[in-house]
Amino acid sequence: MDKDIATPIRTKAILEKYGFSFKKSLGQNFLIDTNILKRIVDHADLTNQSGAIEIGPGIGALTEQLAKNSQKVVAFEIDQRLLPILKDTLSPYPHVKVIHQDILKADVLSVMKEEFVGIDDVMVVANLPYYVTTPIIMKLLEDHLPIRGIVCMLQKEVADRISASPGTKDYGSLSIAIQYYTKAETVMIVPKTVFMPQPNVDSAVIRLTKREKPIVDVKDEAFFFQITRASFAQRRKTLLNNLLSHLPNGKEKKELILSVLETVQIDPTRRGETLSIEEFAKLSDGLYEHFK
Ligand code: SAM
Repeated sequence: MDKDIATPIRTKAILEKYGFSFKKSLGQNFLIDTNILKRIVDHADLTNQSGAIEIGPGIGALTEQLAKNSQKVVAFEIDQRLLPILKDTLSPYPHVKVIHQDILKADVLSVMKEEFVGIDDVMVVANLPYYVTTPIIMKLLEDHLPIRGIVCMLQKEVADRISASPGTKDYGSLSIAIQYYTKAETVMIVPKTVFMPQPNVDSAVIRLTKREKPIVDVKDEAFFFQITRASFAQRRKTLLNNLLSHLPNGKEKKELILSVLETVQIDPTRRGETLSIEEFAKLSDGLYEHFK
């Protein structure tokens, strides 16, 4: 069989054969290091009974390693120019299905029902296009897909924000949105040299393991996220000032907001970044009736 796709020599040969030119606007930074790919796949804990969903297979570098370690792979690729290349490079792996679609527009649940019949352990594994990492991860979580989790490469700076703890500079509404649904860990820091072309930013791999149920119980999820976003709207402002400025009619409801903060025992002069997820849940439940 041919050598792995993710070697610099084979990748260059494939790109040349098809006259492929990278599109920066699609976040095309391909991995050319088989070792890194194998380590990424290891973090997904796949078995030959597992299914894998990949976003953006590129020329198939990661797809190939997923195919070697699972029962079925479904990969969503937006760039039509890559389809004939993938057909060629992935021809040894008939259990890979490539779907030409923007992941943000895809009905992933229907695809899973159709493609993963009899497979109940499914992981998303991807080297994400960096221009849309957060919308992709949020879509996968908010769609409540029957997946075990997500292992993905993304900008290190975003990985730091996703896995941040309260009281740190990286902690914010993104940390809360993702940790609400998953246990988040940064499992690898990845050098620029393993990509072609090399990205401008540092990269990391995170593992998000879905919780059986969200980490906190809240009266209304959408309102809970609205409160966390409002609380971090201007990081240097106090919690109270952010709520006054960023909740609908906040300023007119100042007394109400203050009385809720007192009831839930949260000091109005604290900053959003000092509140735990549990405190945000208490706060949003307390405010809920008055704003809905
Ligand atoms: N998996 C390959 C690898 O690791 O070498 C390529 C990863 S590259 C960082 C990102 C891939 O995502 C590209 O192939 C790009 O065309 C694709 N892509 C970009 N936006 C997408 C979207 N909205 N939906 C699906 N694929 C997308």
